[in-house]
Amino acid sequence: MPNKIIDTQTWDYQQSEKLYGVDRWSKGYFSIGPKGDLLATPDHHQPNLKINIQEIVEEMNESGIQFPAVIRFHDILRSQVEYLNTTFRQVIDEAEYDGQYFGVFPIKVNQMREVVEEIVSAGEKYNYGLEAGSKPELMAALAYNTNPNSLTVLNGYKDEEYFRLALLGQQIGRHIIIVIEKFNELKTLVRIAKDMGVTPKVGLRSKLMVKGKGKWKNSSGERAKFGLSYVEMLSAVDYLTEQGFGQSIELLHFHIGSQLTDIRSVKDAIQEASMVYMNLVKYGVQLKYIDVGGGLAVDYDGSQSTNNSSCNYSTDEYIHDIVYGIKQTCDLNDISHPHIVSESGRAITAYHSCVVAKVIGEIKPNSTNYDTSVADGEHILISNLRDISQELSGDNYQEMYNDLVSIKEQMVSAFNLGVLTLKDMAKMESLYWQTLEQINQHLIGEEFVPEQLMEIPSLLSSQYLVNFSVFQSTIDSWAIKQVLPIVPINRLAEKPSKIASLVDITCDSDGKIDHFIDPNGGTARTLPLHELKADEDYHVGIFLTGAYQDVMGDMHNLFGRLNEVHIYSYDDDPKDYYIEEVVHGSTMGNVLSTMQYSSEILANTVKRAIDKKVSKGKIKPRDGVQLTDFYENCLSKYTYLSDDAK
Ligand SMILES: *Cc1c(COP(=O)(O)O)cnc(C)c1O
Repeated sequence: MPNKIIDTQTWDYQQSEKLYGVDRWSKGYFSIGPKGDLLATPDHHQPNLKINIQEIVEEMNESGIQFPAVIRFHDILRSQVEYLNTTFRQVIDEAEYDGQYFGVFPIKVNQMREVVEEIVSAGEKYNYGLEAGSKPELMAALAYNTNPNSLTVLNGYKDEEYFRLALLGQQIGRHIIIVIEKFNELKTLVRIAKDMGVTPKVGLRSKLMVKGKGKWKNSSGERAKFGLSYVEMLSAVDYLTEQGFGQSIELLHFHIGSQLTDIRSVKDAIQEASMVYMNLVKYGVQLKYIDVGGGLAVDYDGSQSTNNSSCNYSTDEYIHDIVYGIKQTCDLNDISHPHIVSESGRAITAYHSCVVAKVIGEIKPNSTNYDTSVADGEHILISNLRDISQELSGDNYQEMYNDLVSIKEQMVSAFNLGVLTLKDMAKMESLYWQTLEQINQHLIGEEFVPEQLMEIPSLLSSQYLVNFSVFQSTIDSWAIKQVLPIVPINRLAEKPSKIASLVDITCDSDGKIDHFIDPNGGTARTLPLHELKADEDYHVGIFLTGAYQDVMGDMHNLFGRLNEVHIYSYDDDPKDYYIEEVVHGSTMGNVLSTMQYSSEILANTVKRAIDKKVSKGKIKPRDGVQLTDFYENCLSKYTYLSDDAK
């Protein structure tokens, strides 16, 4: 953490821009307007079309679509698909590379039908295909990737049924490549292929020796869960050749992990994989494709570093390194250039969706004060504590802070021994927080603040209670401490006078976010936010949630899926967009049914209990009917807190 506390006396929207680092993480898709609103620029063909997110929030409020909600910008999905494909094409042209690019979108990164449909549609003209890693994903891919010129790449562990589905796909004209993850799969494949009379197209996944960097580095290396060792690779070739399927081997696959933070691991993997490719070709295998897997990272914290939530390279650099790396090995060894396949998922979908949630309260550490005036016969520890606040001066903050903490600890021990009363402790708490606040006031704007005193602002910080669930909407922030950009939707021309961490509405103390982008680099424990106003809603946007977190959320506390709006930009509209679709989130009845409860039985049981009280005269019949209706209606209502929550 840098040793400086932000001075927020003067403010305009450009300072908010710096503070929240919007232009560093948003790839130009989001920005802050002069009036302090957060704007989206979802279509890279229309850089001047800016959608005001606050207007979307207002329209949703008017249409009764409750928050928290996911806002999906379909134009961002399209823009990302186009960017990846056109950049590969440009670099291939420029490098005079002879093969073509055939990208595939890995469905596991976001399986939502609308997302997959949009990606397939945007990728149509580039012959962009799909990747599946399980039977259900394959079922979806078979129905949705209908372009015979694009690939369907099949990864993941496979059983007989998986192979049958794959070969069915081939029979209906899909360009299916079955990637073998482990040696024994080959035997099943050969048996099923002979049984069905279909010649499969096969890919071999290599367990490269090189290791990726970042959170998922164990996806590669000799202890990797997937892929064939060099021994297995050669045996696979021999086995398939013996079985008459030697010509089937078309693709060499590797995937060294997701969110590769360091470009060097990409370069190393390309080098090793292209050597494997060259060797296999020289061994007589007629490979056509080299598949570089996924891993293209998203710079969530905007630091362009090798932090786990960042990366030290751009998409262009990544693509350059792939194309030129493969070309070099092929040219040096005089073999032809293979087609290139890549399976970027995170980089395609992360930007397109955000979660907007309302702040419904503030939890302060020092919300009420107790009378701290001098009392007759008060304990010496209390007097000592009071003295600290009176003796504070420019050069003794650190000493006074140490004394404050030490006296507080002594008082807790004294209380436990029965020496101090609850009233004494209430005085202690008030004096403690007041003194901390005093020290903090002095620190603001200081050029240098001692390391130890840097914790004071966060000790004094509030927790903002946000109507959402970390476990549903930002699971990676909880599970792997991923940093996500979080920005208020409006009031960005106003100075944020508070610093706060966020807590959600689950009954779980882990349901919080306390690592944020630090504008000076690294991560911060708190986020600068605005003071809440009694008569005005305050919404925060959690950005870059479109990959994995969008679909991996769980049912903790039975909150379930969020309401969603799908936004398309539209120049002829006064607001430059329209809501193309509303997908309703989970109702209480929905989430209960996933846990095997039946709404009907629940409602009947409660009704019977009410009827019984009515018949005994404990509840009036009219009230009984109302209570029964109320319970039943709740089953079709949203699981999150309604707007009256304070
Ligand atoms: C998960 C996965 C991907 C997607 O990785 P990203 O880092 O999201 O691009 C691609 N290929 C395979 C085999 C995977 O398991």
